[in-house]
Amino acid sequence: MNPYKNAVFQLNQIAELLDLNKEIIEQLKLPETLHKFDIKLKLDNGKIKVFRAFRSQHNSARGPYKGGIRFHPQVNESEVKALSMWMTWKCAIAGIPYGGAKGGIICDPKKLSPGELERLSRAYVRKLSPFIGPWTDIPAPDVNTNSQIMAWMADEYIKRQNAKRKMRRWGNLGANPLASFTGKPLVLGGSQGREEATGLGGVYILASLAQKLKIRKEKLKIAVQGFGNVGYHFARLAQKAGFKIVSLSDSRGGIIGKQKPENGRGRYLEVERVMRWKKKTGSVVGFPGTKTITNDQLLKTDCYVLVPAALENVITKNNAARIKAKVVLEMANGPTTPEADEVLHQRKILVIPDVLANCGGVTVSYFEWVQNLQGYYWEKAEVLAKLKKIMVRAFLDFWQNYQTLKVTPRMAAYALALERVVGAMKIRGS
Ligand code: NAD
Repeated sequence: MNPYKNAVFQLNQIAELLDLNKEIIEQLKLPETLHKFDIKLKLDNGKIKVFRAFRSQHNSARGPYKGGIRFHPQVNESEVKALSMWMTWKCAIAGIPYGGAKGGIICDPKKLSPGELERLSRAYVRKLSPFIGPWTDIPAPDVNTNSQIMAWMADEYIKRQNAKRKMRRWGNLGANPLASFTGKPLVLGGSQGREEATGLGGVYILASLAQKLKIRKEKLKIAVQGFGNVGYHFARLAQKAGFKIVSLSDSRGGIIGKQKPENGRGRYLEVERVMRWKKKTGSVVGFPGTKTITNDQLLKTDCYVLVPAALENVITKNNAARIKAKVVLEMANGPTTPEADEVLHQRKILVIPDVLANCGGVTVSYFEWVQNLQGYYWEKAEVLAKLKKIMVRAFLDFWQNYQTLKVTPRMAAYALALERVVGAMKIRGS
């Protein structure tokens, strides 16, 4: 599975469907710039280790590049190129003024001490600092990076800017340099609401879909794979909004409510109580009143909405035929392989694509950047109300395309993205 090949395949599909300008599509197949470099890091034991690092800046027609940085042993050029292209589509679908980027370092952060991790993060920014910044490219956390790493990176960026000007200040040609990274801690210019933004954004999408399908929320039984940042907040907030959670899982396995003897129906799960159990025991598995299932069984659970919220490529041609859900809401990035997508489409299972379902995270990142640039910070209620507006608008734009184009939901979302990105490229004359 080569993610970049998948990304180009999808782009070709939509370009053909919309009969888009071939020259522009050729440009869009490649990142505008791909930074590849080695970082020499002095380890705590005095030895030097070299780490390969990347930053793919895919397209900037609609605004500065935006996208996460991941630290993982399997980071590679194909992956960052694909992820940067998907970020371009995601920002366009959300209607936020950014292009797409993605970065990464091939490393296993679990094997690095906190000091080594900090030095590696700072070294990455030193190499990239001429190519990033509030109006150039604004990185954010991704797999295995967090708000602490963003704080080190933002600090390093500010130090580089100050060193260039031989002075200590907050200005970088008028822009607050804290706006060079998002996903920062609250004490260093982070935004209220960022933590639950991706999960909550998904709930807004699901509520909008329920309205269109004219199905009451309590009828929408949901199974969620993954109980981390996205899965937990999604499940918690979906339950709060009136949806019913029937199954949950984490890397150790899944749980499903035991059947009630009186009617044979499964019991619903109380998400906060499951979280308290997980904090105590390390996993959702074993939660009282539930039966243990595997992650593969979770995918085939009897439910209305299946929510992959953990890993890539979990819905494949091997299990797509046995999925019982009527809707798949892709909260993880890339959980469905292209072959599985085709099977689900044939089976009339509606797949709400990741570029729409999980764009709540980058949307609140955008709010963080806006707040940094203004130097004016919003209360949580304001952030969440603005998030809702953007998610509902993105859904309605997508839905209109889905109804008129008669293509898969993924293609309908891509059509929306391409219309906006190609539109910006054309009007700029590039
Ligand atoms: P996380 O590390 O907080 O949580 C991941 C969860 O998945 C954990 O509960 C873990 O136990 C579980 N998991 C790991 N391996 C598993 C397996 N084999 N089977 C089932 N569960 C497994 O990560 P996250 O931030 O919640 O991200 C989850 C997904 O959402 C990723 O694909 C990420 O790229 C995507 N995403 C995250 C955000 C965000 O704001 N965090 C935004 C957009 C997309």
